[in-house]
Amino acid sequence: MSAETNDCDVLIVGGGLVGSSLAIALDGSGLRVAQVEAVASQINPLANPDERCLALARASVNALSALGVWPLVEAKATPIRSVHVSRRGEFGAIRLAAAEHGLDAFGATCPACELGNGLLMRLERCVNLVRHAPARLSAIESDDDGILATLAAGEGEQRLRTRLLVGADGTGSFVRDALGIGADRFDYTQTAFVATVQPERAMDGRAWERFTATGPVAVLPLADRRAGVVMTVPTADAARVAVLDDAGFLAELHERFGYRLGKFSRLGKRVSHPLACMFAQRVIGPRAVLVGNAAQTIHPIGAQGFNLGLRDALTLAELLVAQARAGGDAGDAALLRRYVELRREDREGTAAASDSLARWTASEALPLKALRSLGLIAIDRIAPLKQAVVARGMGFRGHAPALALRGGV
Ligand SMILES: Cc1cc2nc3c(=O)[nH]c(=O)nc-3n(C[C@H](O)[C@H](O)[C@H](O)COP(=O)(O)OP(=O)(O)OC[C@H]3O[C@@H](n4cnc5c(N)ncnc54)[C@H](O)[C@@H]3O)c2cc1C
Repeated sequence: MSAETNDCDVLIVGGGLVGSSLAIALDGSGLRVAQVEAVASQINPLANPDERCLALARASVNALSALGVWPLVEAKATPIRSVHVSRRGEFGAIRLAAAEHGLDAFGATCPACELGNGLLMRLERCVNLVRHAPARLSAIESDDDGILATLAAGEGEQRLRTRLLVGADGTGSFVRDALGIGADRFDYTQTAFVATVQPERAMDGRAWERFTATGPVAVLPLADRRAGVVMTVPTADAARVAVLDDAGFLAELHERFGYRLGKFSRLGKRVSHPLACMFAQRVIGPRAVLVGNAAQTIHPIGAQGFNLGLRDALTLAELLVAQARAGGDAGDAALLRRYVELRREDREGTAAASDSLARWTASEALPLKALRSLGLIAIDRIAPLKQAVVARGMGFRGHAPALALRGGV
């Protein structure tokens, strides 16, 4: 089939946070972009704040601003002005203050549903984007010129040719399986309970991370004096925690987190997530590439999953926009190889850091306990170590996509 018969240059499979960010980053590039999303998505003006709260790194806030998404979300976001990291039952803590690094904030927190709404609003303004939702990618066939994708919607089917197929279809990626790409997985046998609470004391933009032997607890500042909580428990204990009444759940939270923020009250809806990591053995195939959770799904301990996936999307968009300007093929093998090179350090480094943090902070082995306390003290007191932690927490590791640098960092 000749190149002219392609229906689109880029077909993005998945309309989650990462796939949608990529579609927006390609807006105005001149590329014909299509997106397929299995679930019917609709902007909800009364987004339910009682669900997952995301910590967005500064690099992500910069990029979302440059993409015109942040102005649609900012009113629902809360700046992270300081961070406190500690381990229950051990001495030593890391205290990071944005002002000490000449910054107003390290990033911001935002309910995931509000970010989803902002992305959808911005998607609606994209030119040259064709959205298929609800529709599911159900088969692919490739040849030298492109990939023929079958989209299933209700009873019907539609075929679409693309020069490049992007798998932004999450942890159980159909695209990854269809390309025959293997994945390494590890089950942490931990379950994260996500909820919102009302802390007695004002948080003043401080995010808290407390490690315990049974998994980490994060308490993130939200608007209206609310806080987003991620409480991790061993999966063997998850059924018991799931049926606790509100008072019982809050007591469990206090047992792990303590009373630094006074008493927690007004518990919102609880949602649980079993935690496992997945690392795709390759992220490219002929005329195909994986981004976001489809490429790597990491433990939420460092709050990096979306931040990392967004950097996948931004880097890919940067290469595709340059290719379009030069009149090149969006599915060019050299472009995909360059993508792999540019993403290697951030992808491998961030996934490894989240994984070691999840294992290292949970261990009760005595020598490790002492080392861990010393580690916390060292990071807190040694300026270059602290600076490195801050830079990585803000989303700067390896090649930084240009969009992530806009905003004056
Ligand atoms: C408890 C918890 C807390 C977290 N906290 C943070 C945080 O603070 N900061 C942070 O950066 N990250 C955080 N994360 C991680 C973050 O939520 C994810 O990394 C991110 O949402 C992944 O987005 P995605 O678009 O890659 O994948 P997904 O959100 O999984 O989206 C994939 C999309 O593809 C669609 N799809 C699947 N198959 C098909 C198909 N065949 N055809 C069409 N569509 C298809 C699905 O319907 C879905 O909409 C957290 C995760 C958890 C579990």
